[in-house]
Amino acid sequence: MTDNSTLNADRRELDKFAELAHRWWDPGSEFKPLHDINPLRLDWIDENCGGLAGKRVLDVGCGGGILAESMAARGANVTGIDLGERALGVARLHMLETGQQLDYRLISAEDMAREQPASFDVVTCMEMLEHVPDPASTVRACAALVKPGGQLYLSTINRNAKAYLFAVLGAEYVLNLLPRGTHDYARFLRPAELSRFCRQAGLGVEEIIGMSYNPLSKVYALGSDASVNYLMRAGAPRAAGV
Ligand code: SAH
Repeated sequence: MTDNSTLNADRRELDKFAELAHRWWDPGSEFKPLHDINPLRLDWIDENCGGLAGKRVLDVGCGGGILAESMAARGANVTGIDLGERALGVARLHMLETGQQLDYRLISAEDMAREQPASFDVVTCMEMLEHVPDPASTVRACAALVKPGGQLYLSTINRNAKAYLFAVLGAEYVLNLLPRGTHDYARFLRPAELSRFCRQAGLGVEEIIGMSYNPLSKVYALGSDASVNYLMRAGAPRAAGV
């Protein structure tokens, strides 16, 4: 790992996740929203990448491995990276329990990009950018990790009054879906900002899709409403002549 002065990480953010790490796979825990949204995002990725089976996939900010393991179960060859040591420990234990084979590593996206540029068919980075000091740097690193013709899948939270109301006040204070202090509004990213980071990193934005939560039915759904949570798919150009 690079020395801390250059590391694109916030120790307080990492500590928040470290404290909860042992509950990562408890579907009734603070991580319930991640368990609930996982089938939606997994199917969306699988459908749009031409099938995960056989693909080389990198999950950046994989945490305890909810998405990473589910992609491996669909037949992808998955590497998961995170700067949270405890989450990675939980991910490795869970992988042994379920008999999946993944490679989990404690390394930043930026270091991974220097080590293995243009190596992955699919790179995913979900629900992490809103915890990072320099999200543009993370997107650049993710883009550098994608093979020519490959894809990057991102998800984060929009920045507007409604997102503040739903993602911070609603989720953390009213519905108690998340621990208080989970999200810092200033770090939320508008789709236009995230699109710009992708374009500046040489990727073409292919789709932006909203993810909404109905507090009455307690059901999450993908759709056109990107005003709070959203996902973005971006593609790397094919190599010249291919
Ligand atoms: N992507 C997973 C986990 C999201 S929780 C999922 O969607 O299921 C956010 C994760 O980001 C945590 O595991 C936390 O340790 C990680 N994280 C936060 N800041 C990070 C950084 N700067 N570099 C790498 N991982 C980071």
